[in-house]
Amino acid sequence: MIGGLGDLYREVLLDHSKRPRNKGSLGVPPASRGEGNNPLCGDEVTVYVLLEGDTVADVRFEGRGCAICMAAASAMTEKIKGLSRERALEVFDEFHEVLIGEREPSGARLGDLAAFEGVRRFPMRVKCATLPWHALKQALAADQAPGT
Ligand code: ZN
Repeated sequence: MIGGLGDLYREVLLDHSKRPRNKGSLGVPPASRGEGNNPLCGDEVTVYVLLEGDTVADVRFEGRGCAICMAAASAMTEKIKGLSRERALEVFDEFHEVLIGEREPSGARLGDLAAFEGVRRFPMRVKCATLPWHALKQALAADQAPGT
């Protein structure tokens, strides 16, 4: 399906899926963990987040799945490292709006995530691209749970 994307998009996605950034795990705790799976495609992702105060100090992912999902997880970790929790969630909202065609991508704000614009032509694959973000949200929420 990556063949159906434009050249620029395909290159960025292939690069992330072949050489994933921030792949691996972090100790839990102090890091928190979130999981997502997409049975339609067979994608499974675990995201680990280490917060320092309100800043995403480190983020890693593990999992297996299609190229879109793995590339999205890699691009996500690269983009959100160093951002505040709030800003990371804003990036997700913007990324999601791009995927569903409600917003044009801004490379300045989204970085490599802008390359996922082409996924909007394959609505079934939007879930593949957002799955790592749902795992991230779960990890961020877990960190806020009382007593942790
Ligand atoms: Zn998938």
